[in-house]
Amino acid sequence: VATNGARRELPEENLDALVEVLDDIRAHTTRSRAEIVRSRNLSRAVVAQRVQELLDRGLVELGDAGPSTGGRAPRLLRFRRDAGHLLVADLGATSIDVAIADLGGHLLVHHQEPADIADGPEAVLGRVAELFREILAGTPRLTSELWGIGVGVPGPVEFETGRAVAPPIMPGWDGFLVGEYFSQRFGVPVWVDNDVNVMALGELRAGVARGHSNVVFVKIGTGVGAGLVVDGHLHRGAQGSAGDVGHIRVTDDPAVICRCGKTGCLEAVAGGAALARDGRAVAEAGRSALLLELVDAEGEVTAEGVAWAAGRGDPASVELIRRAGALVGDMLSTAVHFLNPSLLVIGGGVSAAGDELLASIREVVYGTSLPLATRDLAIQRSALGHRAGVVGAATMVADGLFSRDRLGLWIERGSPAQTT
Ligand SMILES: [Zn+2]
Repeated sequence: VATNGARRELPEENLDALVEVLDDIRAHTTRSRAEIVRSRNLSRAVVAQRVQELLDRGLVELGDAGPSTGGRAPRLLRFRRDAGHLLVADLGATSIDVAIADLGGHLLVHHQEPADIADGPEAVLGRVAELFREILAGTPRLTSELWGIGVGVPGPVEFETGRAVAPPIMPGWDGFLVGEYFSQRFGVPVWVDNDVNVMALGELRAGVARGHSNVVFVKIGTGVGAGLVVDGHLHRGAQGSAGDVGHIRVTDDPAVICRCGKTGCLEAVAGGAALARDGRAVAEAGRSALLLELVDAEGEVTAEGVAWAAGRGDPASVELIRRAGALVGDMLSTAVHFLNPSLLVIGGGVSAAGDELLASIREVVYGTSLPLATRDLAIQRSALGHRAGVVGAATMVADGLFSRDRLGLWIERGSPAQTT
């Protein structure tokens, strides 16, 4: 009934223009009506009407006066980031990040703790729901309403249904409806995607990829994965598994068994788990005094430890990092030829640990790709670091709430709560 009412009040073309105008204001810190007219190719009258509606509904507010063009200077428009708030979670293989974010993707509260994704959905999501309630209760100055939830998970997700699909490192999660789990408990719409897509979205809207339309984001953490931005939009593919590059076959060596069960996968030789495994072997073989010191001090070798040792010039560690960088670089060089991006972003815990990995990726990509594809190609480290996942999850929810299909369902009521 509410939907029919909304459709009567808001004819289709009005809703189209409303989404256009809101998108334009959201994409800028402040915006004038004249700028919206120019950038969106809408008439002055349509922009004036839709802006008034957004002001009336509390999604946009008036800011400072803009530059005068003769008469009284018009007040600039600002998106009301605080009209509602969002709960977001980024689930890694070994950690949980949760945050409260505003509608602009700014984090108000952020908490991280260790976790094991292999404990299964009931245990892990139960802990996330508990953390959500704790951080909400611990933030009394929050005056707005909860409008949505976003979750990134470290495996393939069927985006339309928010369902995990045969995730290799997530036993017990296959077919689990992650979105439904949270919408039933919190009564708000929920969006779920794999963690790498979510991180790519974070870098696109609030990080190093801002202003770029064609981007490949690669995460080198425990595993390896990529998020693809094509023509300004995240490219999820037919089933949501686009960019699942960690399981591209890169070696014929039958001894390299991946956690997905196949042999020769990229992440089985170049991911964080592989670096840790090879670092330990190097230390035990007596080929690196520095890594052996790490084993003695911390009881184990991590990928970050290998990257740290490489940064201090340890030859065996440099060799491991360079080999991983070369393999990831080869994959990225192929991606460059397929997609012609203007930016490659290197993120994930292993990439943050030192410069050696980035240097070897750059060397391979620039050295093996055609000149036209690399003429204006930048290769940069993630700007958001370990916040990329939660910032991206907030962006995903905001994009969803203000999308054409979703906004029409709730704008008449003033809030998307209970419109799951
Ligand atoms: Zn694999």
